[in-house]
Amino acid sequence: MSHFAYQDGVLHADGASLSAIAEQFGTPTYVYSKAALLENFAAYADACAGRDALVCYAMKANSNLAILDLLARQGAGFDIVSGGELLRVVAAGGDPRKVIFSGVGKSVAEMRLALEHDILCFNVESIPELHRLNEVAGAMGKTARVSLRVNPNVDAKTHPYIATGLKASKFGVAFDDALATYRAAAALPHLAVAGIDCHIGSQLLDDAPLLEALDRLIELIDALGREGIVLHHLDIGGGIGISYGEAGEDAPVPVGDYLGRLFQRIDAWRAANHGGRPIKVIFEPGRSIVGNTGVLLTKVEFIKHGEEKNFCVVDAAMNDMARPALYQAWMDMRPVVESDTPALSYDVVGPICESGDWLARDRALAVQSGDLLVMLQAGAYGMTMASNYNTRGRAAEVIVDGAQCHLVRRRETPAELFALETLIK
Ligand SMILES: *Cc1c(COP(=O)(O)O)cnc(C)c1O
Repeated sequence: MSHFAYQDGVLHADGASLSAIAEQFGTPTYVYSKAALLENFAAYADACAGRDALVCYAMKANSNLAILDLLARQGAGFDIVSGGELLRVVAAGGDPRKVIFSGVGKSVAEMRLALEHDILCFNVESIPELHRLNEVAGAMGKTARVSLRVNPNVDAKTHPYIATGLKASKFGVAFDDALATYRAAAALPHLAVAGIDCHIGSQLLDDAPLLEALDRLIELIDALGREGIVLHHLDIGGGIGISYGEAGEDAPVPVGDYLGRLFQRIDAWRAANHGGRPIKVIFEPGRSIVGNTGVLLTKVEFIKHGEEKNFCVVDAAMNDMARPALYQAWMDMRPVVESDTPALSYDVVGPICESGDWLARDRALAVQSGDLLVMLQAGAYGMTMASNYNTRGRAAEVIVDGAQCHLVRRRETPAELFALETLIK
């Protein structure tokens, strides 16, 4: 069900009116539904029930501590891409031993921090990274569990900026180099080879490329087994897409269907070759956990009728939500209060001094100055990509629990934005 629906002509997040939220907390504000978040996580957890599986939420999609806490309490692990994200997991009360560390550029300090917290696994992306990790672990008298991120060279058929599994991508170890890289890892004394991982891209609407990637990983696991390198887990990454509501867009594959097909293949493979001995399966979903749980609430500042276009200037901007500017992403804009007045076509733009600062183009809206709008499906890659460009404080964040509203991040003040700066003498 949608957790954002009109009740008596006013858009609500579950039991809370977005007009009332704007009045209480101001705009722009991200508003998330706790029930939607738990529902999305449950789709993964239910499909994994009774299996040796771990859902490591890719927290770069939305790393607010309250979100992490809610997911940790459901048993989630976390996929991190920086030391800062690990400290967020710890601050939110998550279990570092359920953390996997992804990314092509882990620093010595980040490796050390992760080893101190005894994380589950480092997803390593290159041979130099293997050597660095081996040295850091050795100096600490520890052994680092590693997985290799293999680039399965499948086309995820998504936006080029979010396709990561092709040969030309900066990510992962080439499929053809994987065996040699595993041998190198197995020979390093302070590493324990634990698993294999991939992540082929984001906003995938079809699971066929993911199942193709699974087949390629299975091929490698079998080849490694023949050499006596036995893997304990298989990590298929994230990438399942969501519906953004654009006319004509394909429907995303339901999470339960995808996991059902994936486990079916894994079960058949294990039963045929391994006497049914299970392998732990790890998922790294981001967008499909948080994307549809949040909206960006914004107020119309001015209506401007240009020569060729009408502009609806709102108080949210590309610094709050970068996806349209960065990926030309289409995101749904709706009025908070329904109206019967005739609509005009508008470009919805922010106050930032860039022509790329737009949130939506050519939308039929009946709006005037002072009205409230929301951008839907803004829960993933929204606040985490926000910046302070133009010395704009980042938006507030509110979680709605039934009819109750919790401020989980207050708005930044201008003074906070330059508090770390000093004049030279
Ligand atoms: C971003 C990312 C994810 C999450 O991707 P979604 O499309 O949001 O599910 C998972 N794993 C890795 C390595 C990532 O970089």
